[in-house]
Amino acid sequence: MSVKNYSFFSAVEKSFDKAAKFTKWERGILEQIKACNAVYQMRFPLKRDDGSIEVIEAYRVQHSQHKTPCKGGIRFAAEVNQDEVMALASLMTYKCAIVNVPFGGGKGGIKINPRKYSAYELEKITRRYTAELIKKNFIGPGTDVPAPDYGTGEREMAWIVDTYSAMHPGEIDSAGCVTGKPVSQGGVRGRREATGLGVFFGLREVCNMPEIMKKVGLTTGVEGKRIVVQGLGNVGYHTAKFFQDAGAKIVGLAEYEGAIASQDGLDVDEVFNHRKNTGSILNFKGATDFKYNMDALEMECDILIPAALENVIDGDNAPQVKAKIIGEAANGPLTPEADEILAKRGIIVVPDMYLNAGGVTVSYFEWLKNLSHVRYGRMEKRFNENLNTQILGQIETLTGKKVADREKEYILHGADEVDLVYSGLEETMITATHEIMNEWKNNPDIPDMRTAAYVVAINKVAITYAELGIFP
Ligand code: NAD
Repeated sequence: MSVKNYSFFSAVEKSFDKAAKFTKWERGILEQIKACNAVYQMRFPLKRDDGSIEVIEAYRVQHSQHKTPCKGGIRFAAEVNQDEVMALASLMTYKCAIVNVPFGGGKGGIKINPRKYSAYELEKITRRYTAELIKKNFIGPGTDVPAPDYGTGEREMAWIVDTYSAMHPGEIDSAGCVTGKPVSQGGVRGRREATGLGVFFGLREVCNMPEIMKKVGLTTGVEGKRIVVQGLGNVGYHTAKFFQDAGAKIVGLAEYEGAIASQDGLDVDEVFNHRKNTGSILNFKGATDFKYNMDALEMECDILIPAALENVIDGDNAPQVKAKIIGEAANGPLTPEADEILAKRGIIVVPDMYLNAGGVTVSYFEWLKNLSHVRYGRMEKRFNENLNTQILGQIETLTGKKVADREKEYILHGADEVDLVYSGLEETMITATHEIMNEWKNNPDIPDMRTAAYVVAINKVAITYAELGIFP
């Protein structure tokens, strides 16, 4: 892999420029949209459990404030660098625009391999990072709202909200300073699986489009599709699980220690537990082992879902990809060279900045919940159930027929928080898919779905700038 001197931010800029040609905006506006507005690079000390002192390198980037707060996850990974955080922050701006989430793009990163630190050390790092963000006004419900990303989850978000609240006594909206929190700390039900569910909803919608499926030589629908997923973390696990539940066959899974395959299908939970118990995805019963996790990318399948890190498919391995559709669950898994090769080969790439927008969409719902200080469904659930009971009772009386118990349960049920979150996410992903596809359809010169998605994003951000008239 030729990823060493690769600039992820340049790749994002390249995709942006490719799409900008299909818009009517003047150069100045396009340059402003592309630029990262603020980059905060920090260093702080950590006293390790063995008493030694280590200097930690960390970042927070605010790509755009055309809408506030800025929004984007925090990544813990050994490969974190400024270029990467800038790229990821840019993608957040475009992502939010595509799914109509009224935020600007942001992203954070701490350059550590979290597996090499104790929970106590990780807590100290997270709390100190939060304190550094507070010092520079780089966090707050109205300025910049982080979330989980690679290597972080609910635990880290709980430390962040606790640190922020402690340093802002009496701030009534402080829970909205970060999303992806545990439900007990102001999180929203459905956030944990949101990105994976969004990936599923997005790809399902693409699979339901006869003209697209005809193009790649597949039947419509998700059922029976052969899926390979790289990365069994938050996004990969839930994506695989939703596909399996919908009747697709998971024929390959990869983790950093290797990959496994079985054309008969792998049970996602069994593989997950096997890895938890043995420490490796390899040697799963009935599956074939592959020593290199990258081998998964070249497996025979219908839909390939990279859900780990960026730049995993480049000019070298793109010619060997056998999937008909690639769903970018991870951010930036394809280089621009890979994009060109795959487009020429007729492989549909469903782009990251729209496909993995489920996380930020549900984060938006969580933020709204925090600001409104009330759980979704609390006010209307019982009212709706009573109303439905009345309506059904009337129908049964008028028709003289009884509705079966299972259907009755479904009809009477008033929406819980998780029902509303799932429904809001489904609507968001379906609408976004159609908006992008229509853009692509209406302009036959647009070469691929990624470019169409960028065109949609650029138009939405540019309209905000133009309407604000903020160029002094
Ligand atoms: P995670 O840390 O929960 O999981 C990532 C998994 O990938 C880990 O289990 C890791 O061991 C595995 N992995 C690492 N390198 C690998 C390799 N070469 N081959 C196979 N597996 C490998 O992270 P996540 O939150 O699931 O994020 C994954 C990707 O999705 C990232 O690109 C992230 O930016 C993107 N994303 C995440 C969210 C979210 O809500 N968490 C939202 C949008 C996008």
